[in-house]
Amino acid sequence: MPGFEIFGAEERKQVNDVLETGVLMRYGFDGMRNNHWKAKEFETAFAERMQSAHCQLVSSGTAALTIALASAGVGAGDEVIMPTFTFVASFESIMMLGAVPVLVDIDDTLTLDPKAVEAAITSKTKCVMPVHMCGSMADLKALKSICEAHNLLLLEDACQAIGGTFEGKPLGSYGDLGCFSFDYVKTITCGEGGGIITNNEKYAINADQYQDHGHDHVGNDRGAETHPTLGYNFRISELNAAVGLAQLDKLDGILKLQKKHYTYMREALESVDGVTFRRVPEGGVENYSFLNFFLPTEALAQKVHKALSEAGVDACFYWYTNNWHYINGWEHLRDLKAMGNLPSEIKQQMQQLNETDFSKSDAWMGRTVSSLVKIGWKEAQVKERAEKMKQVVSEILSTERIQ
Ligand SMILES: *Cc1c(COP(=O)(O)O)cnc(C)c1O
Repeated sequence: MPGFEIFGAEERKQVNDVLETGVLMRYGFDGMRNNHWKAKEFETAFAERMQSAHCQLVSSGTAALTIALASAGVGAGDEVIMPTFTFVASFESIMMLGAVPVLVDIDDTLTLDPKAVEAAITSKTKCVMPVHMCGSMADLKALKSICEAHNLLLLEDACQAIGGTFEGKPLGSYGDLGCFSFDYVKTITCGEGGGIITNNEKYAINADQYQDHGHDHVGNDRGAETHPTLGYNFRISELNAAVGLAQLDKLDGILKLQKKHYTYMREALESVDGVTFRRVPEGGVENYSFLNFFLPTEALAQKVHKALSEAGVDACFYWYTNNWHYINGWEHLRDLKAMGNLPSEIKQQMQQLNETDFSKSDAWMGRTVSSLVKIGWKEAQVKERAEKMKQVVSEILSTERIQ
């Protein structure tokens, strides 16, 4: 996810537009800003690229998730179904509102298992939050039909899959709301930033108000605006938005290169007996930011991950034991370690995560290795990398067969 790989003249030009006027805020100061509205410009361009009616740019992807939930009326005690394999932002954004994260198993898509989602629905469930991890998507068709049957929101976390599609629609635009991150390690970056897309006008207005203290944004005198709702400050600065504008122009070029580099690695590993690949739901197209593959057993996956690193193949991840992305690493969540008192709804309704059986997730995660796809690689470098991956993996798997 290489936004940081391509910071160049275009980004500097956009940032300089802002620096020249010194108007670092996205609202107001009309006379001073020389008609630069970077955040607004980004929102218009991004909504169009994502084939959505509305986009709200905010300070982070985590904030985007919180605002998306708030804008659709999710609040204290409402249950939000999320996967065991994701980023910590998923439960953080839910708990921020006093809502309750309900963690359920993933399947061979490495995202929400629709059967596990259905089994977790209670009278308090309000939202299903699939997370399109590592460049590929959840089975959105199945999830949408579950959401429709139970009158639930479908909120897509597309932070790691920008540019992928499902049934021809950009990821993030299939559900009721979609969220993106533009932090420094995502496919395109603002330095820090996040975005929400939706076709629902009410949610869009709510998101606009919530991220700026509940301001109604009517007229052009900020001091005179009223507050139809409580809100918070999750605004993005013009400097960050300016970087994003330049990066957005580069998105399609990035996706093309990712696909090319991914394909070299995939074709090399496809020839190795015993390696299988993450399932992409029918109708889905990845954004190719990662190549995710399965080894026959957990022990072999660990061996392969270690051997790849020793062979100098960098940027390969074994998420199963990683602190950020899988429930195994989230002791602070499992034991509800908070700095202060937690909302009573969270304390009462949280599932006992230490006692919940996530062996179905373990069975997939334990066998998964992912390689990041960088766009800075030269063609010869990717070919060499793919060849090395194939050698390392086939050596380990063939030794295994002989034993
Ligand atoms: C990065 C990320 C987020 C949060 O984004 P930030 O901008 O870092 O707050 C949320 N969900 C997923 C899946 C992510 O990868």
